[in-house]
Amino acid sequence: MDLKIVLLGPPGSGKGTQTERLCAELGFTKISTGDLLREAVRNNTPLGVKAKGYMDSGKLVPNELVVDLVKEKLKAVKGGVILDGFPRSLEQAQLLDKFTKVDLVVDIVVNEDNLVKRLTMRRTCKDCSCVYHLEYNPPKVGDECDKCHGPLYQRSDDTERTVRERLNVYKESTLPLTKYYQEKGILKQVDGEGDIAEVYKRILKAIKAK
Ligand code: AMP
Repeated sequence: MDLKIVLLGPPGSGKGTQTERLCAELGFTKISTGDLLREAVRNNTPLGVKAKGYMDSGKLVPNELVVDLVKEKLKAVKGGVILDGFPRSLEQAQLLDKFTKVDLVVDIVVNEDNLVKRLTMRRTCKDCSCVYHLEYNPPKVGDECDKCHGPLYQRSDDTERTVRERLNVYKESTLPLTKYYQEKGILKQVDGEGDIAEVYKRILKAIKAK
């Protein structure tokens, strides 16, 4: 399946976790702007230096820092792709339409009350970006990634204050995308409540129906 799929949903809806699994099982390539930006911040690249302040305060980084990044990655990819965290605004969606055709948008719908809890208890692997939840999906051993044994850490934007700002940004900038893609006839909404495996099955069903 050479589909180009966008995973939409608020922060904490499980986009990253589901993207990892879908890519591992379907052989798709993940393009996660959050992961790419965090890597840039970690490596102190010019991009990382510019992006850090926006990310730490829960704001979107300016388009000129992310759009070309996605464009380049897409150019280099063959086969199916899952975009995680991009587009995040109407403007980004319109720019994306200029250089690629999106086949399917899966919108993961989760009750807002659950999101803060999900995010503040989230831990992320420094080496492979795999995510865990201290209560619902804890690592098998201490603060170590099950897959690559990398160290787990709490993202600097997963603190309660920044999480609330990210949710506001989501509502203001990203939520309008559901209407945009609905009008194009490529939006599928999936219930994001329940355990990871259940949600995965729902997403897979939406993809297989394509
Ligand atoms: P995420 O890992 O997707 O939650 O992204 C973490 C942070 O990276 C966001 O809060 C933004 O500051 C930044 N970011 C990620 N993707 C984008 C995007 N498409 N546009 C602007 N900023 C982004």
